[in-house]
Amino acid sequence: MTLTEKLLARAAGKAEVRAGENVWVKADVLMTHDVCGPGTIGVFQREFGAQAKVWDKDRVVIIPDHYIFTADSKSNRNVDILREFVRQQGITYFYDVIDDPNGMWRFDLAQGALKRQYGSQYAGVCHTALPQKGHTRPGEVLFGTDSHTCMAGAFNEFATGIGNTDAGFVMGTGRLLLKVPETMLFRLEGKLQPGVMAKDIILHIIGEIGFDGATYRALQFEGSGIATLSVDDRMTVANMAIEAGGKNGIFPFDARTAEYVEARTRLNGTRQSYEPVELDPDQKVVYELTVDLARLEPTVACHPDPGQRKLAKELGDVQLDRAYIGSCTGGKTSDFVEFARWLRGRRVSIDTFGVPATPEIVHELQTTRWGGERLWDLLVAAGVQMTENAGCAACLGGPVDTFGRMNAPLKCISATNRNFPGRMGHKDSQVFLASPATVAASALAGRIVDPREYLPS
Ligand code: SF4
Repeated sequence: MTLTEKLLARAAGKAEVRAGENVWVKADVLMTHDVCGPGTIGVFQREFGAQAKVWDKDRVVIIPDHYIFTADSKSNRNVDILREFVRQQGITYFYDVIDDPNGMWRFDLAQGALKRQYGSQYAGVCHTALPQKGHTRPGEVLFGTDSHTCMAGAFNEFATGIGNTDAGFVMGTGRLLLKVPETMLFRLEGKLQPGVMAKDIILHIIGEIGFDGATYRALQFEGSGIATLSVDDRMTVANMAIEAGGKNGIFPFDARTAEYVEARTRLNGTRQSYEPVELDPDQKVVYELTVDLARLEPTVACHPDPGQRKLAKELGDVQLDRAYIGSCTGGKTSDFVEFARWLRGRRVSIDTFGVPATPEIVHELQTTRWGGERLWDLLVAAGVQMTENAGCAACLGGPVDTFGRMNAPLKCISATNRNFPGRMGHKDSQVFLASPATVAASALAGRIVDPREYLPS
């Protein structure tokens, strides 16, 4: 069996499952956020009754992160609905925006967008927060009401996005009927060259198979190159499985996975036991592709979809209005570190926005020093508008006052993961997806460039 089949067989209590089979699967964790949480709660209460209890108060994890730092009252209200539900249900893991369990969330526009406005429990973007807070474990099944839930496949678990109706059902029963996906195998061999990042791997793959090339399939990553990829790199790759239509992305378990998961579960006091699934030489896959990491070059997904692959060096005539670094895909500490390497001692020539994915990342950027200078200050000195209000921000457009949102038909190079028309705001804007290194170099040049032309000294 493939890794995905093994995970689903175990969760279904069966010795074996095959692609195409429908099975009832037990959930280990259900995650929801401020956009889909209220809808999911509505379905749950309608179908199970107003007084019904969730199937397991320790396994429903609620992470507001999307439309948080906005004065839009309906968005603010969504966070209050989550808080009310958590109180009613006694849910253990709720990463509230404010510290007062009886309070109400209101974003204060007058304070500006850059200064922190959240309390001590807030966790930031759900897919980055889940592993940081110790909710991703090898061998488990994670459902989330968000398509990029597949990012947790980096940890050797089955992780997939589901709609509010399914999530309402899981909330009440802890189970879901799933069709076992076929598996596509991607062998990653060799090592990335300087200036080429994990984002380039997945942009290359999506360009190869198309933005619907993996529809309802598992993307399984194997090969000797995986050992060279950090946990953050693997998250970047798994995160974008959905951008090819994939049901999930999945990595094998290794010492790096173990080290990360054990440190995070210990730190946060979450469940520490886990049981990974191992590669099986007899697995059946429907597609195979070998990617030589050493031969990859900085890659860009052009407007209007993530499958529009070009090399950065072919796009020098694309003039840009802005650059953006952030999101679950491109807003991790390692992304900002690479971004900063390119910007150190230089200055961007276009509007450039930086949104760390989580408060922990804000803290790391504000406490890491390079030669006495804080990384955060280095970025600000380079002209990047850095906000402490970690969250999804303009990755998904959001209400008009969202930090970094494109409110005009602009061209933006972005370290985010999706670029369908209107994704980051204005319906006539254009988004070019790229690695943090390519975003940084392009922000310096004001047009899309190959970051290797601007190698840091
Ligand atoms: S950062 Fe973007 S892709 Fe990630 S969860 Fe938020 S809106 Fe979705």
